[in-house]
Amino acid sequence: MTSLTAFERQHIDNRCAAANSKIWVTFRKEGIHCYPAAATDPALATGDEYDVSFLGTPHRHIFHFKVGIQVFHDDRDIEFIQFKRWLENLYSGKESVLQLNYKSCEMISDDLFIQIASRYPGREIFIEVSEDGENGSIKHYPAN
Ligand SMILES: [Zn+2]
Repeated sequence: MTSLTAFERQHIDNRCAAANSKIWVTFRKEGIHCYPAAATDPALATGDEYDVSFLGTPHRHIFHFKVGIQVFHDDRDIEFIQFKRWLENLYSGKESVLQLNYKSCEMISDDLFIQIASRYPGREIFIEVSEDGENGSIKHYPAN
């Protein structure tokens, strides 16, 4: 056990109290993707090893989400499982307001942010969205 002076301990306690805390949850949703421009844009339909013209055809992904939100105290300010269930219900069920189809990961992220910020105003939020856990976006949204 390291022995600290009272000053050193106070400094550590102050840093602990100043921590910016977030909780995070993960979930996955199926979506159909399509990027019609990829079929004809010469920057995308290149005809060589960089050709991604196949993105112009509807294809399935499992979108992987990781959502973090600022919390203001350490005792379940936002309860993980309830937060996760609410997020999942935004895409299905009777509270469904969002859709994944035909959107980029960045667009999906912004749509989700608008819903979270409406329910939990004044909190920093980050959202990761990926296609099948392979490639995706990360967005950090400021509190205000
Ligand atoms: Zn895709």
